[in-house]
Order: sequence, then C-alpha cells, then structure tokens
Amino acid sequence: MSLTDLMSMAKANRELSRKILNRVAEATPIDCFQCGKCTSGCTALKLLELKPHEIVNLVKLGFVEELASSDIIWTCVTCLKCTERCPQKATPYHVILALRNLAVEKEARVPEEFMKALSHIMEDGLIQNVQKVAVTETEIYDRKTLGLPEIPRINPKFSELLFKALEEGQK
Ligand code: SF4
Ligand code: SF4
Repeated sequence: MSLTDLMSMAKANRELSRKILNRVAEATPIDCFQCGKCTSGCTALKLLELKPHEIVNLVKLGFVEELASSDIIWTCVTCLKCTERCPQKATPYHVILALRNLAVEKEARVPEEFMKALSHIMEDGLIQNVQKVAVTETEIYDRKTLGLPEIPRINPKFSELLFKALEEGQK
C-alpha cells in the first residue's frame, strides 16, 4: 500500500489524530518537517510498506484509524534509531507505539507472534521458550548438555504485577 493509496481510500479523522499526537508526550510529531532522516536509517525499512516519515505525516493529516488497523505498524522493530536521528523530536517510534496501543484498544487484529510473546512474558518472564542450539542438522544441544544453569522460574508475583500494570496503562 502506498501513501497515495491509503489517502485515496481513507477518510481523515482529526479528533483521533489529535488524540494520538497528544499521547506521545515525550515526542513532538507535529513538528516533523519531513526531512526523511528517520527513514534513511530505519532498521525495518524493507519490511514497512510505508516509510516512517510517511506514517508520521499520515497521523498528522488524520489517517489514524486505517494505520491502527493495518499490519504496517507491527513491522517496526522498536530499535529507536529514528528517535536518535530525528532533528525535531518528532520520532516515528513513539507514533507507531501510540498507534499500536490504539489498535489494542480498538480490538484490531494483533499479530499472533505478539500475543505469543506476551503470554510467554506473563507465564515465565521470557519473550519465548528456551531454545535449543542447532550446530548442524543432527547436533542439537539444550542448556543442560552445554553445562548451562537452568533458567530460574519467575516470582509468581511478577505476572500479577505485570497484569495490573497493563490494566492501569489502559485507563
Ligand atoms: S520524524 Fe524527524 S527525522 Fe523523520 S522526517 Fe520527521 S523531522 Fe525528519
Ligand atoms: S523504531 Fe521502528 S520506525 Fe524507528 S527506525 Fe526502528 S524500526 Fe524504523
């Protein structure tokens, strides 16, 4: 999907645009002057259908709902390079995170991998299951074989506190 496609298919929503821009307290996306420095350093550029500076521009123009329900916002790898490179504190990273939060609020589709990662974090504090190391197709080692200690189980209070923090964050 190109910038022109999205703008011709969608309707601007100024109120939602203001809401997203206000939410990004640490950044000032409204001051983005479309220099493209964020895009030229973006780690996920090949994955993103829209460029980071275009995403900021679309939010400023009010095309928020379409972005919040599209897969584009989930391909950012949250590396923060755009935040470091931006001369204006406009930072696409913060805009993308605000769009993700809006997507969750609106119960838009969240990619399965994110949901899996979240449930792993809630259960054992890790983003994924403990992996084995494959040296060759037949040589596969687990932590025990490699003489590494077991990963300690998380304190059960962790899940409880995390869940509470997530709930409070939604208020
Ligand atoms: S977000 Fe920052 S770096 Fe990116 S185009 Fe706007 S001003 Fe330039
Ligand atoms: S945080 Fe996202 S948008 Fe910004 S540079 Fe990294 S991958 Fe690109």
